[in-house]
Amino acid sequence: MSSESKETNINVVVRVRPRNQKEIRENSPIVISTSGVKGKDLHVKANPSDPQSKTYSFDKVFGPDADQQMVYDEVVAPILEEVLMGYNCTIFAYGQTGTGKTHTMEGDLTSCAGKDAGIIPRTLYRLFDKLEKEDSEYSVRVSFLEIYNEELRDLLSPDDPTVPSVKLKIFEDMNRRGSNEVQGMEKILVNSAQDVITILQKGSNKRQTAATKMNEASSRSHCIFTITVHIKETTSDGEDLLKVGKLNLVDLAGSENVGRSGAEKGRAKEAGMINQSLLTLGRVINALVEKGLHIPYRESKLTRLLQDSLGGKTKTCIVAAVSPAKCNLEESLSTLDYAHRAKNIRNKPEVNQR
Ligand code: ADP
Repeated sequence: MSSESKETNINVVVRVRPRNQKEIRENSPIVISTSGVKGKDLHVKANPSDPQSKTYSFDKVFGPDADQQMVYDEVVAPILEEVLMGYNCTIFAYGQTGTGKTHTMEGDLTSCAGKDAGIIPRTLYRLFDKLEKEDSEYSVRVSFLEIYNEELRDLLSPDDPTVPSVKLKIFEDMNRRGSNEVQGMEKILVNSAQDVITILQKGSNKRQTAATKMNEASSRSHCIFTITVHIKETTSDGEDLLKVGKLNLVDLAGSENVGRSGAEKGRAKEAGMINQSLLTLGRVINALVEKGLHIPYRESKLTRLLQDSLGGKTKTCIVAAVSPAKCNLEESLSTLDYAHRAKNIRNKPEVNQR
């Protein structure tokens, strides 16, 4: 079932957005800077006039002028190649609400390759472009899931989006330990990138509608968009080979919902809105980095579902999104520390083929 496997660290990249209107209006100075449009270092000052700055290094750092195409080319294009080889890959977007997670993941959903199209539409566009040029038989399926308050909602099912889907259950794939799937979820067969865009727009609207109707903030939910690709190839000695690659694109809840050390913040605790999944994600990362004996995957829906992406057989990338402005410095530092810690997680990716 698997071929060679080598341990690799999780890839961690940071994207700094431009200052927004509010930050400019309030004259909140820029305290996080990058060396140009892209590089590996990020410089943080408590005040713009400070002579000293603290430097953080990541696998990649994108400055406010980096566009969607650049993020795709540098981060996602190599991952798509891995998916086509039969690996499972996951990209997480992590950060405070308003820092650009959805912009990075979805961006403009009206076209697959427009200037503002994000990772999901661009990936689909490139995926179909590549598959159509190959001789092999293939199929592409997508699913779109939301986790809110530890309840799963299928964003592609025709059901009422305000009702959590009782039929959705997480089950463990016994053939692939740590690879958990959701039973009962729509996995839609798609034939073109445009097909998926239409589906995605519906799913994305469904998320918004449900949030508005129930007075919930969509910044407290996690969204997992999954693309599964089956490719059938014939080897030179006439044998059929089936490769199955999977890409999870995860837009996490706003990181302000949990505090710096992964502990819940007072405000969140009081309001009874502890985000169990985000909290557990932090604990899982800490336990993996500290090489703990017990990794608390089972304590949240998100970490159960994505267990394999954290210390498992999946190739994983985290895109941490931050604001450059002083008024958000505390949250940005918390995001940078979190992302920096995650760099130490090691996965051992394996190809799925039979
Ligand atoms: P989040 O999903 O983290 O809450 P959003 O993706 O909704 O944040 O971004 C908040 C706003 O900032 C949106 O209007 C988005 O278009 C804009 N934005 C975010 N990142 C960038 C960027 N790198 N360049 C330009 N605009 C951005």
